[in-house]
Amino acid sequence: MNIRIHPLWFVSGIYFYVYDFLEWWLMIQLIVLLHEFGHAWMAKSLHWKIITLHMTPIGGMLELEPRWISRTTDLVLVALSGPAMNALLIIVGNLIGDFQAWSGANLMMILFNLLPIFPLDGGQIVKAILYRWIEYDKAERILVIWGLLVTFLGVGLFIQFVGYHFGIIIIGLFLVEQNIHYLKMLKWRSLRRRFMSYSP
Ligand SMILES: [Zn+2]
Repeated sequence: MNIRIHPLWFVSGIYFYVYDFLEWWLMIQLIVLLHEFGHAWMAKSLHWKIITLHMTPIGGMLELEPRWISRTTDLVLVALSGPAMNALLIIVGNLIGDFQAWSGANLMMILFNLLPIFPLDGGQIVKAILYRWIEYDKAERILVIWGLLVTFLGVGLFIQFVGYHFGIIIIGLFLVEQNIHYLKMLKWRSLRRRFMSYSP
């Protein structure tokens, strides 16, 4: 597997070191890495091509090339294997000892990644289901429109019931940006074959 580390990844490490959060940051990086390995392991066992794993300051991104773009079960299995790895990490942590921060971070990874919004794992499952029923080009557009709608609705409901939070605005903006970027990239047909798994 080709691993690419963004230069700003090191900068964010230094930032967290300076503010005395290095241990926490390293734990998150390890969880993100193992989450991506979960996807990669399943992809490999289905004979997919593993292209690159990117580590960036805002998370890990795994680029894969599915063997059969039309196989719904394969797509769903690969999408679920990342969160499944986090579930396994919670179980292992609990067997070894009292790993509250570890379990909490893994649980957040599972919940967040399963939101049904592209480019999160839950969004990949939506994509796989759309691919099954709708012609690819149309499916991609529906995926993006759906992603934007769910993001706006989710952020709105969060602010309404939980309250205004800076983090939720950043997450919302990130998801909107990713979906619009994806819509623009759709003209490159080759992208359709790619399976991008993003994990903040
Ligand atoms: Zn994932």
